[in-house]
Amino acid sequence: MHPDEGAVGEDGADRTANPIAVTMSGMPEVWQGLLEAHIPDDHGRCSACNNAGTAGVPWPCTLQVIAESARGIFYASGHSGQASCHLAS
Ligand SMILES: [Zn+2]
Repeated sequence: MHPDEGAVGEDGADRTANPIAVTMSGMPEVWQGLLEAHIPDDHGRCSACNNAGTAGVPWPCTLQVIAESARGIFYASGHSGQASCHLAS
């Protein structure tokens, strides 16, 4: 684990950053793509992880959680949220 740099405040369990999410936060295209793909279907299972032949993965899946965490880190690290990403949708 990493040292307590930048005290998060009391009861900051929610702020415990997954190392993978921290790394992914520097790759907006990655977590954006994951957040777009890993969405719940009508049965509450992840659309992206729900591979044919399996029972499916309950949503939110691990990847969705990590991607969402990465997004939070991304915006918390000084990004305005107005990043001029490709708005192809
Ligand atoms: Zn998923």
